Amino acid sequence: MTSASANPAPADQAGDRTDRYAVFGHPIAHSLSPLIHTLFAGATEQSLAYNAIDILPEDLESRLDELTDEGLAGANVTMPHKQRIMALCDTVSPRARLAGAVNTLIRRGEHWHGDTTDGQGLMTDLVDHLNVDIANQHILMVGAGGSAWSVLGPLLEAGPASIVVANRTLASGQRLADNFSELGDVTACGLDRVPTRDFGLVINATSATLQNARPSIPQGCVRDATCYDLMYASDGTAFGDWCRRYGARSVHTGIGMLVEQAALSFEMWRGVRPETGPVRKHLADELGFRS
Ligand code: NDP
Repeated sequence: MTSASANPAPADQAGDRTDRYAVFGHPIAHSLSPLIHTLFAGATEQSLAYNAIDILPEDLESRLDELTDEGLAGANVTMPHKQRIMALCDTVSPRARLAGAVNTLIRRGEHWHGDTTDGQGLMTDLVDHLNVDIANQHILMVGAGGSAWSVLGPLLEAGPASIVVANRTLASGQRLADNFSELGDVTACGLDRVPTRDFGLVINATSATLQNARPSIPQGCVRDATCYDLMYASDGTAFGDWCRRYGARSVHTGIGMLVEQAALSFEMWRGVRPETGPVRKHLADELGFRS
């Protein structure tokens, strides 16, 4: 595994023809994506440069035009652009259309194609790395924002017994549940109205962790459950600490999802699926980010 900095060398310093990729967001300075993709590129011997680009919401269209003219080959898209970027894509995958969000841009000739790898990234982490059984489980998903929209479809396709979407704003949770109701048993409730049930899996898809808070759900929800916070932090999250205190079976952060969704984007761009194990190990050993 080669070591990598967060800001790879520009194309003209890299020798061979170097394709250029980026992640767009605001704020974006602390993104781990440049490091992750540079590690993937080193391990698969792909010649590419990948940078984080801070783009204000009002500048998204004009910056994409500029970067397209400069030959950008692909991009990841993160908060707050995942929904708005859809309108700037020439084509969008069915799963991105259903999720209402795009996190991966792929240049196809003269066109931008949009896709989302967030849901599949979560599933790969849950099923392949954490050995979590989804089929026939009762699942509680807390939150109904962009990431909840991206992960609900793949979760339902794995055949759980039911999914309850609990959200602070009930109407948003209801809209999400209604959108996916054809894929399985999915209902919505407020945070204080979570039904009493033995949940096998509890997913925190809220951004409460960013405020060093946790969504206030009843304690009994997490007892004996596998608990997964989409947010990641090297020193754990308030939600994870709370789940441990109230008897969770196991507690995980979203760092694995981040790496897995990145690997899926990388494969779409380069036609090569990078191994994620060495990158997960690097993030844990060097930066303290553990699943
Ligand atoms: P959004 O802004 O789209 O949605 C935020 C959600 O959090 C809403 O449901 C909102 O409820 C809820 N919320 C915010 N604050 C609180 C609070 N204090 N108590 C209860 N609910 C709260 O965010 P995203 O869906 O894009 O992101 C959610 C989280 O997922 C973030 O922490 C993000 O970093 C993480 N993420 C991780 C990824 C990974 O690869 N690991 C990928 C994508 C996201 P309401 O509707 O009432 O406002």
